[in-house]
Amino acid sequence: MAWENVICSKCKEEYRIQMYGPYKTREWKIANWSGICDTCKEKEVAEMVKQNKSGKSPELTGSDKQIAWAINIREKFKESYDHCDYSYCVNHFAKYLKNYYKSFLSISKLEKKMEKLKETMDEKKLKELMDIAADNFFEIPSAHEWIENRQVNIEKLVGKTMAEIFTSIQTPATNFEKDIQADVEAEAVMEPSDPVSTTIADIKLNDDKIIISFLEKNNDFKKIIKNYNFRWDSPWKKQLSFMTENPEDRMAEIGHTLLAAGFCIRILNPEIRKKIITENFILEHTRWISVLSNKPTHFYIQWAYEDNMYSEAKKITGSRYDKPGVIIPMEHMDEILDFAKIYEFKFSPAAETLLKKTKANKKAALILKSENLKTKEKQLPESNSDIPVLEVPKKIEVDDELKD
Ligand SMILES: [Zn+2]
Repeated sequence: MAWENVICSKCKEEYRIQMYGPYKTREWKIANWSGICDTCKEKEVAEMVKQNKSGKSPELTGSDKQIAWAINIREKFKESYDHCDYSYCVNHFAKYLKNYYKSFLSISKLEKKMEKLKETMDEKKLKELMDIAADNFFEIPSAHEWIENRQVNIEKLVGKTMAEIFTSIQTPATNFEKDIQADVEAEAVMEPSDPVSTTIADIKLNDDKIIISFLEKNNDFKKIIKNYNFRWDSPWKKQLSFMTENPEDRMAEIGHTLLAAGFCIRILNPEIRKKIITENFILEHTRWISVLSNKPTHFYIQWAYEDNMYSEAKKITGSRYDKPGVIIPMEHMDEILDFAKIYEFKFSPAAETLLKKTKANKKAALILKSENLKTKEKQLPESNSDIPVLEVPKKIEVDDELKD
C-alpha cells in the first residue's frame, strides 16, 4: 500500500489517494485514472440531489449519497429494459404467480389455474402488462430499494412487478371465502326475542352424528340437550340411528327447543331454519321395537327414559328386562303387534324383517301341524271321524331347522 498522486478526471486537479497492488499495476492505474476528487464527488452528489428534486423523473427518498447512487442504478436499469428479454420476463411472471396461488390452492387446482392463465393471457396482453409493470417499477421511490436490487436482472424485477399488479386485482380465494363464511354464518344465526345468553349454539350434522358446540357452561342448556340424547363428547353429540329418523327433523327439533328456552342457535342449512320457523318438523319418536344384534330371534322394546313403559312391556308373554328395555322371543309376535298398536311403538327395519320371518315360520309350522293332523286322522277309528279340526295352538314352537 502506498500514497499516490492522481489527477481528477473532472476538475483535472491533483489529489492523493491510497493505492494497493504491485508497483507496475499502480503505475498503470495512475496513468489511466478515471476517478474524481472528493470536492467533485460532493458537487456531483449535490447535482444529483438537485436533479432528484427537478421533477423530471420520480423523486427518490434516502440520504443524499443514496439518492445519487440510486439515480445511477435506475439509469442503468432503464437502459437494460430497452433491450430486455420478453420471454424471460414472462417466465419470471409465471413463477411469481405460481408461488402466489400455491399459498391457497391445492396442487391440482394450481395446475388448472396456471393452464387457464396460459390460455387467457396472450402475447398482446402480456406485453401490455409488462409495459405497465415497467412503468410501476421505475416509479419505486426508495433509493435503498434500488441499491438493494442493483445486481438483480431487469427481467426478474419486471416479472415480479407484473405478478404484483396482476394479483392485486385478484381477490384471494382465502380472503373471499373468509368474507363469505362470515356472511353465511351471520345469516344462519337465529335469536330468540329475549335471549338468556349471547353464546351461540352451533348445530351441525356430521356423518352419523348431530354436533352442538356451545362455548359456555350453562346448566339449563345441558339439561335440555341431555333430554334429547346428546352426550358430552367434546362437544355435544347425538348418535343418529333408525330411531332418530330424519336428521334434519332432529336438528330442527333441538334448534326449536333451544330457541324456545331463550338460546341463540346457528344452523347453516336454510331448509332446517325454515322447518324451525314454520314449526314444520316431525317430533322424535322414542317408542321403538327393534332387534339386538346378539339376540336375532328376539324383539327388543325400548322407550325414552322419562316415559316409563316397563310395566306394560313386562306383561307380554316371555318378556325379560334387558337394560334399558325389555326383550321378548319372536314367537310372541301377535302380542307384540297388539302392544305396538296400543302404545304407538314403531318397528325398526330389522324388526320389520323379523316380523316377516316370524310370520313365515308360523305359516310353515301350521302346515307341519296340519300334515301331522292328517296322518293322525287316518289312524283314527271311523266312528271318531266327525271330531272337529283341532284349533291351532296359540303357542307354536318354531322348529330348529326353521330358525336361522
Ligand atoms: Zn475534481
